[in-house]
Amino acid sequence: MKSVTIFGATGSVGQSAVDLIARHPDDYDVVGLTGGQNITQLAADAVRLNAKVAVTCHAHLFNDLNDLLAGTGIEVAAGDAAIAELAKRPADWTLSAIIGAAGLVPGLTALAQGKTLALANKESLVTAGPLLMDTARQHGATILPVDSEHSAVFQALVGEDIAAVERVIITASGGAFRDWPIADLANASLAEASSHPNWDMGQRITIDSASMFNKGMELIETKEFFGINPAMIEVLVHRESLVHALVGFTDGALMAHVGPPDMRHAIGYALHWPDRGNLPVERLDLAKIGKLSFENPDPVRFPALQIASDVMEMGGLSGAAFNAAKERALDLFIAGQIGFLDMARIVSRVIDKMSASDGLQNAQISLDNILEIDALARVRADEAMKNLG
Ligand code: NDP
Ligand code: MG
Repeated sequence: MKSVTIFGATGSVGQSAVDLIARHPDDYDVVGLTGGQNITQLAADAVRLNAKVAVTCHAHLFNDLNDLLAGTGIEVAAGDAAIAELAKRPADWTLSAIIGAAGLVPGLTALAQGKTLALANKESLVTAGPLLMDTARQHGATILPVDSEHSAVFQALVGEDIAAVERVIITASGGAFRDWPIADLANASLAEASSHPNWDMGQRITIDSASMFNKGMELIETKEFFGINPAMIEVLVHRESLVHALVGFTDGALMAHVGPPDMRHAIGYALHWPDRGNLPVERLDLAKIGKLSFENPDPVRFPALQIASDVMEMGGLSGAAFNAAKERALDLFIAGQIGFLDMARIVSRVIDKMSASDGLQNAQISLDNILEIDALARVRADEAMKNLG
């Protein structure tokens, strides 16, 4: 029996994990599930998986969640502190699938217990990569990547010497606007940016895929997790979303990971690691698919990639500023306060301003400094919005 906790259980990744665990109830002992607004789903899954505790991050929803779980014997808690508290309860396997920088503290807390953290929350690596990796080392914990590209790289590296890696290529579908006339992007609506050609994901990451901020985050994630030199990491647009990543070795070989666009693969790989489970994902019929296409991303269409590359080179706390500015710009786009292209303009201005005056590169990478830079970058993003003109 493996004891498991899922942070962000009500989200897109979380629900895929719940699905995998619910198929084999005798194999898992569910310690805790967390959610946010969607307490109906949280309560239903807590009952279905026989969880010991259910936690919502919203303190004001405690009574409602408590009512939903009355008589079940399932413990209820609410608020950010309760989420971090859950991360201290022993679990063999913890999934970090909260969206945004809010996933950082629970993930760090779980690592300090010295067990396994399956990491979907890419914001943790982008904002605090060195801190996360150090915490894992210090406590003998294992981090397994769940972002599909990073799971693919991880799988391509099994049995290989990292010193023999020449390059890592992560693929991108190109998102909702890959074929739009560039002149139309400024007027792209929220609904248009919220539909993905291949993957079914949460709204925020879907919009980040349309802007390629998601791929930018994944560049930084690759550098931080695998310790690979930024110059060796590339992005290729691959419309079919079947090849998730490729690793190139010094002998010229390229190892590609191919699979259906279904997060249950990457989650399931981390759940069964180091073994392989029998997963309920589609088996690809390559003859039927026939062709796979690859092209270089257009830097004019996707300015987020260059911003992320600069941040990856800069290092230090620039990832924390980048992520927070991006999260804030995304909030503003979702709220209808800025246009689609303004997101990249805002993030770029925040990074320029903060790298010039706020010591992004030289400060110590501690949790306090990260949280401070995160808060400051959100303020700078609001300032940049006012000056967009
Ligand atoms: P969703 O928006 O679908 O789900 C987010 C989850 O986090 C929900 O359970 C939500 O609760 C909860 N949540 C939201 N805000 C907070 C908060 N402030 N504190 C605690 N919990 C909160 O996101 P996704 O599942 O799409 O993504 C989750 C993470 O995985 C992200 O970091 C994303 O980048 C990454 N990822 C996602 C992929 C995907 O296929 N979706 C692929 C690869 C990586 P509620 O909904 O109840 O309010
Ligand atoms: Mg991904």
